[in-house]
Amino acid sequence: MIEEALVELGYSQDVFELLKEPQRMLSVRIPVKMDNGQVRIFLGYRVQHSFSTGPTKGGVLFHPEVSEPLMKALSMLNSLKNGLLNIPFGGAKGGVICEPRELSFHELELLSRGYIQAIRSVIGPYQDIPAPDIFTNSQVMAWMMDEYSKLCPDQSAGFITGKPIVLGGLKSRENSAGRGIVLFISEAAKKKGIDLQHSTAIVQGFGSLGSYVAKSLADSGVTITGLSDAYGAVYRSAGLDMNTLIECRDSFGTITKLYKHTLTSQELVEKPCDIMVLAAVANQVTVNNVLKIRSKLVVEAADGAVSDEAADWMTQNGILFIPEILTSSGDMTSSYIEWVQNRQGLIWSKEEGERRVRQILADAFTRVHNIAQERGISLKTASCFAGVYTLAESARVRGWI
Ligand code: GLU
Repeated sequence: MIEEALVELGYSQDVFELLKEPQRMLSVRIPVKMDNGQVRIFLGYRVQHSFSTGPTKGGVLFHPEVSEPLMKALSMLNSLKNGLLNIPFGGAKGGVICEPRELSFHELELLSRGYIQAIRSVIGPYQDIPAPDIFTNSQVMAWMMDEYSKLCPDQSAGFITGKPIVLGGLKSRENSAGRGIVLFISEAAKKKGIDLQHSTAIVQGFGSLGSYVAKSLADSGVTITGLSDAYGAVYRSAGLDMNTLIECRDSFGTITKLYKHTLTSQELVEKPCDIMVLAAVANQVTVNNVLKIRSKLVVEAADGAVSDEAADWMTQNGILFIPEILTSSGDMTSSYIEWVQNRQGLIWSKEEGERRVRQILADAFTRVHNIAQERGISLKTASCFAGVYTLAESARVRGWI
């Protein structure tokens, strides 16, 4: 994707040579004294893709599937994401190969601190700023910040984002990913002439993200006609009662206990609606079923839910498709605002944090939508163009290429 975008944007092969690999990678071995007294060595990475736009930024995963190629790919994706958002960061990603559900609280703390000690030479508020990701949370960020503040006491504010509020975390961080998605839906609805008050939506996936988006859309006047969870799907053309469903989900963990399900989650995506949000798993809309899609707006909230071919087909056939690279940018944007807040020594209200994040996301949507319209390409390709342009142009004006 990067290579194609560079060719289209008129950059030379030299730029691709620079961007095709991360600029810096560190692999570390982290000793942790386990609760049983034995020492275990964990393998971790910090990968920094691009320095041309500023310090690098990205989350840290604690997961058994962490690997060097995965970290490289995800750091590149963060470079593109920051580039398209016009946030002055390059992309990074880090991780430790482990099964955090098998670690005690104490072992998790030691691993978090050990990871920071191991990568300390390449991180810092002006160098590379970590954040939460899969199986890491604000507590892990707090331990990491504490460890960093022992190593570099004067630099700890803004060293890491996604912190607890008492340590300088952003008050509006909670649900920032979901709020980002809802914002993109309302911006896209304006472009498509969809009046939210008189529209219908289907939400596939009822985890924390899917249920937040469904509830927020319902609160904005959208009629939710279909929902699915891991067991099946429910569809009522007259609309589903979101409040009851949220309550039910909280007590049973599944919505299909309340409504008898008659459909599979896959069948649900073929039902007619104005807005379809795919917040479940990958490969939900592909060449095999894209011809059956009957919605005006398709939102990819789960990684890889829509194949590239299906995204292009939808674009060519008048369905507006919002790709995951956009829908997943709410967290990154909140992190940027948290870093700005920390660097200034300020504490913004929840409303102020939300306002700043909303502004960046809305500007990014307009920019990417304009590129898509001008070039007749999908929002996914246009997002890539916007990201690649920032990376390539910043490297060019620095005189690197
Ligand atoms: N999990 C996000 C990522 O790496 C975190 C980004 C950030 O907040 O820095 O994609």
